[in-house]
Amino acid sequence: MSHRTVLIAGAGIAGPALAHWLHRHGMPATVVERAPGLRAGGQTVDLRGAGRAVARRMGLEAAVRAASTGEAGIRFVDARGRTRAALPADAFGGQGPVTELEILRGELCRLLYEATREHTAYVFGDEITHLHDEGDRVHVTFRHAAARAFDLVIAADGAGSHTRDLVFGDTTRTRHLGLCTAYLTIPREPHDDRWARWHNATKGRTVTLRPDNQGTTRAYLSFPTPAHGYERLEPAAGKRLLRRVFADVGGEAPRVLAALESAPDLYVESVAQVLMPRWSQGRVGVLGDAAHCASPLSGMGTSLAFTGAYVLAGELARHAHHTDAFAAYESALRPYVARAQKLPPGVPRIASPRTRAGIRTLNTVLRAAGHPRVSRALGRFLVPPADTFRLPAYGV
Ligand SMILES: Cc1cc2nc3c(=O)[nH]c(=O)nc-3n(C[C@H](O)[C@H](O)[C@H](O)COP(=O)(O)OP(=O)(O)OC[C@H]3O[C@@H](n4cnc5c(N)ncnc54)[C@H](O)[C@@H]3O)c2cc1C
Repeated sequence: MSHRTVLIAGAGIAGPALAHWLHRHGMPATVVERAPGLRAGGQTVDLRGAGRAVARRMGLEAAVRAASTGEAGIRFVDARGRTRAALPADAFGGQGPVTELEILRGELCRLLYEATREHTAYVFGDEITHLHDEGDRVHVTFRHAAARAFDLVIAADGAGSHTRDLVFGDTTRTRHLGLCTAYLTIPREPHDDRWARWHNATKGRTVTLRPDNQGTTRAYLSFPTPAHGYERLEPAAGKRLLRRVFADVGGEAPRVLAALESAPDLYVESVAQVLMPRWSQGRVGVLGDAAHCASPLSGMGTSLAFTGAYVLAGELARHAHHTDAFAAYESALRPYVARAQKLPPGVPRIASPRTRAGIRTLNTVLRAAGHPRVSRALGRFLVPPADTFRLPAYGV
């Protein structure tokens, strides 16, 4: 069983993490990535709980720590930049909305690639177009490369996974969370310090600026909406939409809107979760966001990808039959994923009130976060269930 060959779709976070663990268990992996090179975009992600423990077991924790953005915490500010409440990174035992291990997604992606490229065959600029499970092997057709057969195929190609859809068709459900978020990198200004600044404006609109370790600032614009499909907007339409929605917001909004034109990486999305009734079919499995995107609101996407990669590789090594391995992977991980996907009542509305009175109330509650009883109550909303999974031991 240690000679199984595995094809992974997606060189994001989950794919390379799985390649690492498969290698540790003696299984060679090939990773096919649709983008022409490593897709090292994205804003800040965090590694928490079990995910952080997996990074430690991979020998990556020190490198992640060294590449951390060093965010000091979040200040909730008004349109004049005045701090109305603040949550330092060590609030909630360091497990609140900002943790001490915040890293740019792209940096983490590079770390994983560098750690696996010597033993993993990476194929960039290609993708799977057809999968035929022949019972003893999976016959794979690619857009460019010649067809090949593998023992197993794992779809780790993100929330919009095309590979998943080839096999699981329309059994996958998308749960829209009623929020549109835009991400972009903007020039840093002298008053951008190590603190994230979160400005709640009326109608549930938020403008957040976060420090990075690249000499720039990361901006997030978010607003509630029942519509979805924003990720399919042309860039010009996305910019028009943001200019219209944030026109009267004030604070840092005009600066972010001005930077839209030259932003190298504007990305607009409808915030959503991926729900699948099962994570494998025959010799094909799903991993990471492709299987169970929990959305950026969960604060758990990257940690789940690390944990899932560790468990999937471990179960494949432990079981002679892939069906047993996939079943064990799913039964171990699914309750953890369910907890991550179960957003607290009122989220996301509660974090972005519609009215001035609502914003004032939220700030008052946040200011009281140091009080033990308020802290316990707030913890239900602000501390993800990252520590609620015990990593199995797989002997490597
Ligand atoms: C460019 C980008 C930016 C992101 N920014 C953020 C962020 O700012 N904040 C946040 O919380 N989360 C972000 N995410 C999501 C975050 O990375 C995941 O929630 C989490 O880390 C789990 O990662 P994943 O590997 O499952 O999926 P992803 O990180 O989405 O990686 C999926 C990979 O699969 C590739 N791919 C897509 N389709 C195919 C295909 N058909 N064949 C082969 N490869 C394919 C993609 O190019 C990508 O490299 C971002 C993802 C991407 C791709």
